[in-house]
Amino acid sequence: MSKSYTKTDVILIGAGIMSATLGSLLKELAPDWNVRVFESLEKAGEESSNVWNNAGTGHAALCELNYTSERSDGTIDMSKAIKVNEQFQVSQQFWSYLVNSDKIQNPREFITPLPHMSFVQGEQNVAFLRKRYQTMSDHPLFQDMEFSDSMEQLKQWIPLMTKERASEEPIAATKIDNGTDVNFGALTRKMFDHLEANNLEVNYKHSVEDIKQNSDGSWEVKVHDQENGRIEYHQSDFVFIGGGGGSLHLLQKTGIPESKRIGGFPVSGLFMVCNNPEVIEQHHAKVYGKAKVGAPPMSVPHLDTRFIDDKKSLLFGPFAGFSPKFLKTGSLLDLITSVKSDNLVTMSAAGVKNMSLTKYLIEQVISSKEQRMEELREFIPDAKSEDWGLVTAGQRVQVIKDTEDGKGTLQFGTEVVHSADGTIAALLGASPGASTAVHVMLEVIEKCFPEQAKEWEPQIREMIPSYGKSLAEHPELLREIKKSTAEALDLIEKEYANS
Ligand SMILES: Cc1cc2nc3c(=O)[nH]c(=O)nc-3n(C[C@H](O)[C@H](O)[C@H](O)COP(=O)(O)OP(=O)(O)OC[C@H]3O[C@@H](n4cnc5c(N)ncnc54)[C@H](O)[C@@H]3O)c2cc1C
Repeated sequence: MSKSYTKTDVILIGAGIMSATLGSLLKELAPDWNVRVFESLEKAGEESSNVWNNAGTGHAALCELNYTSERSDGTIDMSKAIKVNEQFQVSQQFWSYLVNSDKIQNPREFITPLPHMSFVQGEQNVAFLRKRYQTMSDHPLFQDMEFSDSMEQLKQWIPLMTKERASEEPIAATKIDNGTDVNFGALTRKMFDHLEANNLEVNYKHSVEDIKQNSDGSWEVKVHDQENGRIEYHQSDFVFIGGGGGSLHLLQKTGIPESKRIGGFPVSGLFMVCNNPEVIEQHHAKVYGKAKVGAPPMSVPHLDTRFIDDKKSLLFGPFAGFSPKFLKTGSLLDLITSVKSDNLVTMSAAGVKNMSLTKYLIEQVISSKEQRMEELREFIPDAKSEDWGLVTAGQRVQVIKDTEDGKGTLQFGTEVVHSADGTIAALLGASPGASTAVHVMLEVIEKCFPEQAKEWEPQIREMIPSYGKSLAEHPELLREIKKSTAEALDLIEKEYANS
């Protein structure tokens, strides 16, 4: 049977926040390019980007203690925090551009201002938090940070967490008012609605099954149309694999040398959800604590006010779980089928090196509701079991690769893998994740379209004024951007409104 082909300039696999962002950037930079999207599910933004499948934190390093570390001389290393903050400001600038140019509307439907706080217990941790606050609040990016170890002040900031606190143990918190809660699923759908209304074709219920490079460098993508069971073949000059947890399998199918010796390890997330409106009303912040010893960085416990389906909610977690699936809607065979002859040694080495993670995951998986409630009571001392249920969030597939730290090193960040000829790229990993989508998709553009990226620079700068500049080193620009994005995204805080 002969194959029938359709040809496009760009194919995006998956309709999550990453493809939505790359599609939106390309629509602005190369409006004449023909872009086609294939998505297995019925709607956009339904896997990790869905509001219930992630924690919705606009990661800007305002509260996450794992973005800073203590050096051996006792000083605080905040280089990662600066990076994460600047990357989130890149996202906010692009979202503001889309709102200001009426490409997406009603920002409150996807982003809500919310104080971000760090919370610690015990003398040593309080001393660490104070020192961290002194270092960070001196920096232009974090100068709005406040610190308190006074019970009176903390009662005002976090009433739910301070009442009925019988322990004599000292506690302390930092607070920044201009944090955010983001509904990445809603944002993804808004971006796709605009793109679909402007000639970008999104094919839902279409699963990509194979990807092969043609002799002229273009790619052949084999797609299964779930509605009629037919197999289609599509050709494209450039392919972006934005399949979330599904990206690793697709990358392996490309056979590019860059896809070798990479593995993935899935970690599921569970959140406790409060079902008592009186309790929900007593809290208004995202409060991040300290990770337990041996716990991976994405398991830092946090008590979050969320805005889901037009309602204020309260979630606590994440608790880690184990499922061999790479997507929430994936297959139980995902982990085993990702092991290939080229990554077997890498994967085995990771297994041996990460015994403490394995132990941690086993403990988490067998935790009872009462054990989870005990963890919650470190945040809300009088939490009642009947007020809390459990929801399963998305799957994170952590990248495993050989690095200078040795074979089979588990990575906790996001990674763009691309072919040497720049005709295909994939995004692996999930942290800081959706918050840095714009920065990461600009990286894809720079790596895969280096010549055009130079030409597009003025346009990119129109959309993202800080593009190519460090906001930390340009305090005046930082001030302007904070004000303009707060206005565009309806995040007006007192200090900006009055300045
Ligand atoms: C528990 C948890 C908490 C998180 N918390 C945060 C947070 O607080 N803040 C934050 O910024 N990030 C967070 N993240 C990370 C964030 O959710 C992800 O980084 C982001 O959603 C990934 O977007 P994506 O577009 O790459 O993938 P997804 O949103 O997963 O989209 C991938 C899409 O590809 C489709 N697909 C897969 N394979 C195929 C195929 N073969 N053919 C066609 N379609 C395919 C899928 O159906 C899916 O729709 C969290 C993640 C988890 C799991």
